[in-house]
Amino acid sequence: MEKKNIDWGNLGFAYMKTDSRYVSYWRNGSWDDGAMIGEADVTISESAGVLQYSQTCFEGLKAYTTEDGHIVTFRPDMNAQRMTETTQRLLMPSFPNERFIDALEKVVKANAAYVPPYGSGATLYIRPFLFGSGPVIGVAPSPEYTFRMFCTPVGPYFKGGVKPLRLQVSDYDRAAPNGTGHIKAGLNYAMSLYAGHVAHKNGFAENMFLDAATHTLVEETGGANFIFVTKDGKVVTPKSKTILPSITRRSLMQVARDYLHLETEERAVPLSEVSSFAECGLCGTAAVISPVYSIKTAKGEITFPSGEEKMGPVIQKLYDTLTGIQMGRIPAPEGWIHTIV
Ligand SMILES: *Cc1c(COP(=O)(O)O)cnc(C)c1O
Repeated sequence: MEKKNIDWGNLGFAYMKTDSRYVSYWRNGSWDDGAMIGEADVTISESAGVLQYSQTCFEGLKAYTTEDGHIVTFRPDMNAQRMTETTQRLLMPSFPNERFIDALEKVVKANAAYVPPYGSGATLYIRPFLFGSGPVIGVAPSPEYTFRMFCTPVGPYFKGGVKPLRLQVSDYDRAAPNGTGHIKAGLNYAMSLYAGHVAHKNGFAENMFLDAATHTLVEETGGANFIFVTKDGKVVTPKSKTILPSITRRSLMQVARDYLHLETEERAVPLSEVSSFAECGLCGTAAVISPVYSIKTAKGEITFPSGEEKMGPVIQKLYDTLTGIQMGRIPAPEGWIHTIV
């Protein structure tokens, strides 16, 4: 198969239209057979549930080329299951998990020419999404739904080297105690755009959100979960019902335990404890881990001893081990690597 003529190493994180995508419609109580189509544009009712009341959710995962030349994805069963849990909370019909995997295989195979070569640092980002496409005017779940999955090649995350991030504690809240913070709903992102804009205007890469009820506990950034390393080498991640359960973070905690033999803790993390940590990182599919250099709080700026230039030693080991597992250089736990071709 001939690859597309793309400058893989210089791709950013932006949408590029690829050859084909998967679509399935839910009407009269069931999903149709689904199909791969060429048309990228979506035509729906002006009164569609997604347009009027934001009834939509999404997932994000990557396909990439391993050292031995296979195209694989990482734990896609976890994305399928998380989307099922999201749809339940938004009163949308779930797309069956095994059909999610089937759609993924079709999308990646049909667009294999867009999967970046091994060593380029680039990956194929896959975006499954499900939305209310039937008309509503009174507030109610949509009578019809659309599941789609497209892909787009994206560049290496740390282009030009790793640069530890500067964060600020946000004055805004991301998730209410019994709200929707734990699901991958589009609405969680719409309402975070303004807080992100304020952070960028103030010169910070991301917001650290605190728990909405007490403003004392660390939650997440709204696109990535936190992991911290204590001065005695324990890996700690905040536990909260309003954090989105990152697949990367759950995988890193397992890597810390089973590969690096480190102690791990998932527990409430008070903001007041953060200045005692040795390392801090953000985890998500896009970067795997982005190191954090500093966090501006109402009481001043916290900086981590790992510094402004590089990842701290434990975060570096976690990063190297998980990316090694993903790229096929290190043996993976059972079921983590889903080979497509
Ligand atoms: C998707 C997402 C993450 C990262 O999850 P991964 O499964 O690791 O990609 C973290 N926080 C929020 C709010 C998210 O939507």
